[in-house]
Amino acid sequence: MSSEKKKLLIDALSDMPKLSKRSLCGVAAVMNALDVEEQNVFNMRLNDIREFRNKYPSKLNPAGSSWLAKVLRDNSYPITDKVINLHIRGICSCR
Ligand SMILES: [Zn+2]
Repeated sequence: MSSEKKKLLIDALSDMPKLSKRSLCGVAAVMNALDVEEQNVFNMRLNDIREFRNKYPSKLNPAGSSWLAKVLRDNSYPITDKVINLHIRGICSCR
C-alpha cells in the first residue's frame, strides 16, 4: 500500500461519524417537547402498553402503540408506532 493510500485510509478511519440528534429515540424527543403534565400522561400510556403486553401477549391492544402514535401525530408530534415499540422493548438510545 502506498503511503498516500495509507494516509487516506487512516484519515477516513479517524473521521468517525458522530452521534446526531437523529439517533435520539423518537419517544425521548417527544418527551422533551412535552411539559411535565403531558409527560406524566404519556408515560402512563407507555406503561399501560408495556403492562398489557406482559399480561396478554397474544391480544391486540386497542390502546396500543398504533393508537398512541396516532394521538401524538394528531397533536403535531411526529412519531411512529415502530419507534414506540422499540422504546417499550428497550431497543433505543434511552438505555
Ligand atoms: Zn427510547
